[in-house]
Parts: sequence; C-alpha cells; structure tokens
Amino acid sequence: MAEPDVVVIGAGVVGVSAAIAARARGLSVLLVDRDGPAAGASAGNAGAFAFSDILPLASPRILRKAPGWMVDPLGPLTVPPGYALRIAPWMFHFWRACSPARVRRSTVAQAALMDLSRAELDPFLARTGTAPMLRREGNLEVYEGEAQFKASLAGWRAKQEHGIGFEHLDAAGMAAVQPGLAPRFSHGTFTPGWYSIADPKLYTLALADHFRAAGGAIERAEVTALRPVEDGVEVAGPGRTIRTAQVVVAAGAFSHRIARTIGEAVPLETERGYNTTLPADAFDLRTQLTFGGHGFVVTRLSTGIRVGGAVELGGLDRPPNFRRSAAMLTKAQAFLPGLKPGGGVQWMGFRPSLPDSLPVIGRARATPRVIYAFGHGHLGLTQSTGTARLVADLLAGAPPAIDIGAFSAQRFS
Ligand SMILES: Cc1cc2nc3c(=O)[nH]c(=O)nc-3n(C[C@H](O)[C@H](O)[C@H](O)COP(=O)(O)OP(=O)(O)OC[C@H]3O[C@@H](n4cnc5c(N)ncnc54)[C@H](O)[C@@H]3O)c2cc1C
Repeated sequence: MAEPDVVVIGAGVVGVSAAIAARARGLSVLLVDRDGPAAGASAGNAGAFAFSDILPLASPRILRKAPGWMVDPLGPLTVPPGYALRIAPWMFHFWRACSPARVRRSTVAQAALMDLSRAELDPFLARTGTAPMLRREGNLEVYEGEAQFKASLAGWRAKQEHGIGFEHLDAAGMAAVQPGLAPRFSHGTFTPGWYSIADPKLYTLALADHFRAAGGAIERAEVTALRPVEDGVEVAGPGRTIRTAQVVVAAGAFSHRIARTIGEAVPLETERGYNTTLPADAFDLRTQLTFGGHGFVVTRLSTGIRVGGAVELGGLDRPPNFRRSAAMLTKAQAFLPGLKPGGGVQWMGFRPSLPDSLPVIGRARATPRVIYAFGHGHLGLTQSTGTARLVADLLAGAPPAIDIGAFSAQRFS
C-alpha cells in the first residue's frame, strides 16, 4: 500500500475493529502489529460482552475491599513489592477517581459507551460474518451469604437507574440457571443482557480475515515513534518509516509508549490478569459465572472452560506468576465440585488500564491526525464495537456518536 489514508497500530480486538470501521468509510487502511493479529490481551480474555459493567472499578467500594484482598499474595488484587513505588502515581490518580462525584461522572460516560457498543454489536457482527460466534447466555454473579448479597444491592440499584435488567435469585433459582454450585453460595444475580463470544482469539482472527477481505492490509511491524509532519504523520519503526494522513494508536497496554513520542503523558498501567483454559468437558456450564468476592469468572468457550481474572499491578516487564492461575483454579474446584481440573492451559494478559476505569478515545494533543483508542481495562472486547464507531467518526471528521469528553487523553493533566 503506497501511502495509506490511515495506519492503525495494534491488531487486538480494538485495533482490528477500528480498522474495519475505518475501511467501511472508504478509507485505505494499513493495520500494523509487531506480533500479528490477536497477540495481546484480546487472545485470552474471558470473552464477555459485559454491557452491564458500567460502574468504574475506581470507587469507594474498592477502597473498602482492596486492603482485605491484598492480604493474600495470590488473591484477587496484588501489587508485587518491587512495583509498589512505580505504580504510586497511578494509584494516586485512582484514589482521586474514587470520589462520589467522579464515580457518578465516570458511570455516565461508561454507560453511554456501553449503550453505543451494544447498539453497534449486532450490525458489526452481521457485517463481519461473525454473528454465529455470539452467545446470549447471560451472567450469574454469586454471593456467599446474606451480608455479601446485601452489600451488592447499591451497585445493582445504580445499574437499574441506567436501564440494566437483572434478576436476584435464591439458591433454588440459581440451581435452575446453573446446577452444580457449592452450597456456600446462597444468593445470586442473573444478568440476561450479558453476552459472550465463542472464543476471543478466534473472533479477533476472524475480524482480521474480514478486514483483509474488505481490502485492508495487515503488516507485521513494530512502531517505535510517531512524527507529525506537514499534511501527515510518519510512523517509524526499526528499519522502516510509513507516511500516512492519520494514525490510530490501539496498541493496548503499550500505547502510552507510542503516545510519549509525540509528547503525550498518559497514566496507562497494566492490570495483569491470569486464567486457565480447561478442556470443554471440564464442567457443564450454562452461563458465565462471576465469583465477585474472589475476583474471577468461569466462562464457556467453544475451545474450553476458562477460569480466571484477578488483578496484578505488576507492569509490563516482569515474568508471569502462574501460581495465580493455579490459585483461582483451586478455588473454582471448591465452588463447582463437579469441575474436572486436569489438562488446563495457563495464560497471562495485560489489561490496558487508566486510573479512572475509562478508556482513552480521542485526538492527541500534538496533532489531530493522531487518534487514540486504548486503555479499555477489563472491557476492551465489550467496548470494541463502540470504540470502532467513534474512531471511524473521528477519522471521517464527523461528530462522534456520543460525547467523548470524558475519554480525553488530556483529562489527567
Ligand atoms: C484475564 C483477562 C480477562 C478479561 N476478560 C474480558 C472480558 O471478558 N471482556 C472484555 O471486554 N474484556 C476483557 N478483558 C480485557 C480485554 O482483554 C482488553 O481490554 C482488550 O483485549 C484490549 O484490547 P486491545 O486491542 O486494546 O489490546 P491488545 O489485545 O493487547 O492488543 C494490542 C496489540 O498491540 C500490539 N502492539 C503493542 N505495542 C506495539 C508496537 N509498539 N508496535 C506494533 N504493535 C504493537 C500488540 O502486539 C497487540 O497485538 C480481560 C483481560 C484479561 C487479562
């Protein structure tokens, strides 16, 4: 491709979806990724379109829960001792985002992006030929005892205000949705509007195939710097520079390194997550299960039963600690006594996370020709279709489908 209209950096689910949306507006698009499509977090996530997850993680609720979680080094939330100082500035922004007023603002912005993403999902799947991969099986969040259930109710009320449908269930109601739960789970909440994809890696690869078939180009190349020039941007990497009119930075948890080269400081960190994918017959799973008090989920994929979650604020460079995957699997065995734990494959991925739990979607400070689309944290698959729509609007110079002020890269400065 001589000089593409757009270079999209990063072929995870966000970058590929944005590239497809840009191509659909008639632009010539080159998608570059140092490792090829679906190499990052988009490959191994839990596969949920968690449209009901509108409440930001940064909240007074988490401030209350976090100290208890951090006591267990293999529990739902950890900061490795060697990383505590490095993450302190991010933690400071996180703490500031926990004020009730900021939580309300973030919730409104998150709900708007969720609504857009949900509205875009069916047409996007239909256009890309991936509709058969969608499963509308809902999510069952389970609670151990009355006190834990009651503590969840304020959050459910807030979701109700944003039109999210759910049903609270007793033990018998839960057994009808999902047989085989341990009796310690006395209450649950079923969210029917929560969907899953058959397999997130296969989905992203299918999107990449669709993009190629629609005339898009994909190249394997590392990007080390952006350089705004007259009438365009140079995208530089080892041994090669590509000139283009517009750039989309969708490099997941590595995006801040690219933004830094055009003078933008974005407090992007990674929430490292872990899982184990068991053979498909490991458990007769009927819906996604969320063990919120333990920070993990169990998901039925076409490729197996995936057990995982947790957050490790440990940066991009240290090796994975797969004892975390094993710890969640041990808990899952206790919570689902019929679960067969053998034959699993462990995985760790980098969630790209901003301190206020909102992504960055919008133009760079240095030049309107660079558009950011990263930092979706726990929700990158869920918000990929809405983000793609917004990126395409920006590339085309059209008004974005929703107000994107809350997603600005400059909101922390
Ligand atoms: C355990 C776990 C469970 C999760 N479950 C869910 C879920 O159920 N639902 C949900 O919505 N989200 C979930 N997430 C979050 C979701 O996976 C991420 O938000 C999403 O995958 C981010 O997509 P992305 O395209 O931005 O990044 P990635 O998928 O990480 O893609 C970024 C790409 O950029 C490339 N890249 C990076 N730097 C460069 C460079 N310099 N040059 C060229 N290429 C570069 C990488 O190779 C990579 O392919 C989960 C995450 C984890 C870890």
